[in-house]
Amino acid sequence: MLIVLAKKNDTELIEHIQDLLQRKYSCDAHVIGENRRVIAVPGDSAHVEVDIFKNMEGVRTVNRVDRPYKLACRKQRDKSEVEVKPGIKIGSRSNVVMMAGPCSIESEAQLDETAAMVKEQGVNILRGGAFKPRTGPYAFNGLGEEGLKILQKIAEKYDMATVTEAMTEEQADLVCEYCDIIQIGARNMQNYDLLRHIGTCSKPVILKNGLAATHDEWLLAAEYILAGGNPNVILCERGIRTHEKEVRFTLRLGSIPALRELTHLPIIVDPSHAAGKSRWVGDLAKAGVAAGADGLIVEVHPNPEEALSDGPQSLDAEQWKDLMTDLTQMTNALDKELL
Ligand code: PEP
Ligand code: MN
Repeated sequence: MLIVLAKKNDTELIEHIQDLLQRKYSCDAHVIGENRRVIAVPGDSAHVEVDIFKNMEGVRTVNRVDRPYKLACRKQRDKSEVEVKPGIKIGSRSNVVMMAGPCSIESEAQLDETAAMVKEQGVNILRGGAFKPRTGPYAFNGLGEEGLKILQKIAEKYDMATVTEAMTEEQADLVCEYCDIIQIGARNMQNYDLLRHIGTCSKPVILKNGLAATHDEWLLAAEYILAGGNPNVILCERGIRTHEKEVRFTLRLGSIPALRELTHLPIIVDPSHAAGKSRWVGDLAKAGVAAGADGLIVEVHPNPEEALSDGPQSLDAEQWKDLMTDLTQMTNALDKELL
């Protein structure tokens, strides 16, 4: 970290800053340069509250040379691969891993029919929500543990891995019991107790971006899980809230190459929640792959108009088949495997 002062030789301020850094953060600080205007804090300063120093009169700028996430940081390694099913690793850069299924698990028959649609296109990871974060309390909020049992049963029938959301620590424990991948939804990206708890689980985690989260906030959320001891974090770009109302959320395609420079974690894209309309999902899915996503998570439903949640953005059998045909061509051209 570098603290640049407004005045030369401001001995009083230099001593104050050095004292505070030492007492509060156990950091040594050295004055550098002839004019004694720059204070350098070498080593680990992830725990230092930069804004305290930015707020001091006489301080011009404070620059963190290192990002505050140590484990998620690209400096750790180039890429990390998360194995979600024997033989299926997300983050290799040589494949695009597909996950698909309904927004919510509604019944055994509905999930069975959806899983058949998904598997028919060669996809091996089934999504389906049992605990649903709904905007209002009167909407269908999922089948709970009963839904997890259905998910496990259907996944076994079709030999698929599963992904489902947990909103609380208790739900996370249940999800770990029944499923292969835990999803942390956009609304819980900054639920720090939940993130800490997930850090103690060993299952892969899909961490979606918060609706207004910056890259740094998102990577710090991932850091909670990594710091807890769970290295299996997959980021999922699902769009952010902007002034635009026509498209449900704005998918940040630029975040994919930008995050590649900041982190080694795999990045997948959720085109469904971003688009909000099924006829736009395919284009966003393909754009995600073009931008370098390691995988996609897509909502599909055998009868979207009857769906109990997110029907308007769910692909029907024909749209799903068309998307997979396009993605097969695209990944062939990119010399990547579609899994
Ligand atoms: C979902 O995947 O169904 C979901 C609610 O996602 P998000 O948290 O991105 O809104
Ligand atoms: Mn949904």
